[in-house]
Amino acid sequence: LLRLASAVITATARVAGLCHSVLRGEPYSTCSVGCNYCYARWYRGPHGEPAPQPYITKLVEALGRTWRKLGAAIPLRVATLSDPFQPAETHYKMVLRLMRLALNLSVPIVLNTRLAPPGREWWETMEMLASRGLILVQITLTGLQEDWRYLRLVEGGSPPPEERLSFAGEASDRGIPVAVRLQPLIPGIGDRDPRGFVKAVAGSGGKLLITEFLRIEKKLFDTYKRLFGSLSEIYNEPWEDYTPLNLETGVLHPPLRYRIETARILSEEAKAVGIAFQTCKEGLFHLHHPGDMDCCGFKLFNVKLVIARRPHLGDVYRIASIKGKAAPDDIWSSCRAREDLLCAEKLARLPGWLRKPLRYHEKKLAKILQNPKLVETIAPSLQYDPLEGVYKPRDYRT
Ligand code: SF4
Repeated sequence: LLRLASAVITATARVAGLCHSVLRGEPYSTCSVGCNYCYARWYRGPHGEPAPQPYITKLVEALGRTWRKLGAAIPLRVATLSDPFQPAETHYKMVLRLMRLALNLSVPIVLNTRLAPPGREWWETMEMLASRGLILVQITLTGLQEDWRYLRLVEGGSPPPEERLSFAGEASDRGIPVAVRLQPLIPGIGDRDPRGFVKAVAGSGGKLLITEFLRIEKKLFDTYKRLFGSLSEIYNEPWEDYTPLNLETGVLHPPLRYRIETARILSEEAKAVGIAFQTCKEGLFHLHHPGDMDCCGFKLFNVKLVIARRPHLGDVYRIASIKGKAAPDDIWSSCRAREDLLCAEKLARLPGWLRKPLRYHEKKLAKILQNPKLVETIAPSLQYDPLEGVYKPRDYRT
């Protein structure tokens, strides 16, 4: 049970405040792709030779039972701390087993990868999952082919952008819904040609672009400045502490002004070519579109089961956009009224190993909402009005 409960991601402020899906299944102990900026290392230790994690079949079985009873499902994120299609998969086939089980038990999965499936069996299983609306593939792309001479310095174990785009195209052609994650957005690379990038994503059949900015340990900042400083002025400015309210964890991300402007350009380019745009753990909700899309892309699932997600600050922003303001408690009444949100009394129907950590996330979110400074830091699209005691959409036009 303890192992199953570890499938729920720890409730940090950014996760509890900004993540709909906190359920993950890790098929491998580590990752051999070995990206230099990889923050999975902070949670699972160094890169290296991965060992298979057989417990995940138990996890899928447990979720299958739970979702059948509930009539709704939170999709399982497959491999958040390693690449599911790293070379070890050809030998161990953990992800293939997981996908086949998910198919049998109707468990929706989000597969996040930068590598193409190792062979025919994987493709066929993904196609079958897609035909039943049970899979969303998120392909990580950090730049275009022209950027590869720079990108290979920090992600040399990954395939070049052209290969990832061709994988996205093949998946789309096979009827598998594809979202592209521009993650991490490395200043100087991910912002070099936003129009070209978005066009390439749309051209490969991607329906949604999700972006998350680079976050790096302080000790690595000078290395990134040396590698990419000639490509972007932002390396000459002070970067902000990633942990809200400058708690000094030693992890940095680019200044807010840069993040907003870069995401705004990507958002507009995405709108121009008709694909959705979301930010991940950035809280820039005013740039998200269309209005009914969520930041995980659950909207792209085409499943009979109700896809449920936990509410987050984006739902507060949604209420505030419609009504002009949102009191901290409005999120719970809105959640109770909607079948696609999993919270409050609805959690009582879950087994203990899942209910307890999800409740903890909920309590943490309630606590965050009582701290306007924290909300405004992790969700810059929201502004607290102390006179009325409510949150309002921040107006970035003035
Ligand atoms: S592929 Fe993903 S998990 Fe693996 S090293 Fe690169 S960033 Fe980390």
